[in-house]
Amino acid sequence: MFHDVKERLERAAEILGVHPDVMEVLGYPRETLAASLPIRLDDGSIKVLKAFRCRYSEVRGPTKGGIRFHPSVSIDEVMALAFWMTMKTAVVDLPYGGAKGGVAVDTKKLSPTELERVSRAYIRAFAEMIDEHRDIPAPDMYTGGIVIAWMTDEIAALKRRPMPGAITGKPLQLGGSLGRDTATGDGAFICLEALRDRLQLGEGATIAIQGYGNAARVFADRAAPAGYRIIAVSDSSGAAHDPAGLDLQALGCHKDETGSVGGFAGDLHPDDLLTMPCDLLVPAALDGVIDEAVARDLQCKAILEIANGPVTPAADTVLKERGIEAVPDILANAGGVAVSYLEWVQNKTGDYWPADEIERRLTQRMQAATEAVLAEAEQHEIDLRDAAYVLALGRLCDAISATGTQTYYNGEG
Ligand code: NAD
Repeated sequence: MFHDVKERLERAAEILGVHPDVMEVLGYPRETLAASLPIRLDDGSIKVLKAFRCRYSEVRGPTKGGIRFHPSVSIDEVMALAFWMTMKTAVVDLPYGGAKGGVAVDTKKLSPTELERVSRAYIRAFAEMIDEHRDIPAPDMYTGGIVIAWMTDEIAALKRRPMPGAITGKPLQLGGSLGRDTATGDGAFICLEALRDRLQLGEGATIAIQGYGNAARVFADRAAPAGYRIIAVSDSSGAAHDPAGLDLQALGCHKDETGSVGGFAGDLHPDDLLTMPCDLLVPAALDGVIDEAVARDLQCKAILEIANGPVTPAADTVLKERGIEAVPDILANAGGVAVSYLEWVQNKTGDYWPADEIERRLTQRMQAATEAVLAEAEQHEIDLRDAAYVLALGRLCDAISATGTQTYYNGEG
C-alpha cells in the first residue's frame, strides 16, 4: 500500500519538477510508535494487542487521521494511511498534516466492556502525542460512535481537563459537529457536481455503487434528486438492480429491516456490479477492488472513489489507455476530514454553528479543492488523479521550502 501511494507521489514529483530535498523529507514518517496493549478480558485472562500511531508529516499543521480497529492492522498499513492523509489534507487545503493509528483486533470477538478497555488503553498508550495542537485522531474502521466517546473521556481524564479539540468525530453531546455523519457522502456529491462537465455526465446519467454503507447512502440520496439514476448498488451480502433507477427510500427501508440490499430488486450478483454498463462507477467499500483485469472489463465512463484506494496503480495505466477518468479518493472522500476540521475549529473557539453553516463551508471547500485540481489537470494536461497529487505535493513543497531551500543556503536566491 505504501509503495502504491509513493508511486503516485513520484509521478507527481516528475510532473512538478520537485527538488530532491522535498522528496527526501516526504520519504519518511515524522514519528511512528508501536505499543503493546495488555487487555483484561471478561473471563479474567489477559490478551496483549499490537497498537500503532504514525504521524507522517506536520509541515502544514498538527497531524490528523483516524484510528482503526481491525485484525489486519500493521505498522506498514498505518504508515501508508498516514501518508495518504498527508496528501488528502493538502488537497483540500486544511492546516493539517497526516496521521493514522490502529489496533490489530477483531472487535466482533470483544464484549462491550472489553471494547471499552481497548479504546481507553489505546489513548493511554499514545496520550503524549494526542493533543489539539499536535495530533488529532478521528474514527476509522470499527471505531465510530461510542469508541470515540470513550477515547474523548479517557484523554480528558489523563490530562485533567476537557480536551474536545483533541479528537474529532465525537458524538454531538461531547462536542461533535452537525454534518459530520453525512460529510463524506455530501463531499463526494459536491465534488461530482463540480466535475459534471469534465466527466461528461448529462441529465439521467446512470450510477452503480459498490458498498451501500454510511457514505454511499448519503451520496445516493443527494445524487438521485439531482437527476442521476442509481441503477445498481451492492453490499457484502447482496445487490439490487433496476435499470429504470432504484427507489432509494424503499431500498433504505429494506436494508434497515433485512441488513442487506440483496433481495430488493433484480438478480445482479454483487461480483458483477463493477463491470456492468453505467456512466459512473462509485466504489464505496473496499480498497484494491479495481485491479488491472477488472479495469480492462469496466463499462463505465468515469469512477468516483468514495472508498480509500479502490484502484490499484497498475489499473491506473489501463484506465488512462481506455480514457476512463477516476476522481481520486484524496479529493472525492475528503468531505469527512473537511468537516472534522470544522468540528475542531468549533471546539477551539467554543462557537458552535448550525447545520446550514457547516454545509456552506463544506461546499465552499470541496468546490475550491475540485476547481484547483481541475486547474492542475488542464495546466499540465494530466488526469484528475495525477492533478490531485500534483496539487497536494505543490502545497507540501511550498511549506517545506518556506524554511529554506538548497538554492537559498547556497546563496543563490
Ligand atoms: P460502512 O462500513 O458504513 O459501509 C461499507 C459498505 O461496504 C457496507 O455496506 C458493506 O456491506 C459494504 N461491503 C463490504 N464488503 C463488500 C463487498 N465485498 N462488496 C460490496 N460491498 C461490500 O463504511 P463507510 O463509512 O460508508 O465507508 C465506505 C468507504 O469509504 C471505506 O472504504 C472508507 O474507508 C471510505 N471512507 C469513509 C469515510 C467516512 O467518513 N465514512 C471517509 C473517508 C473514506
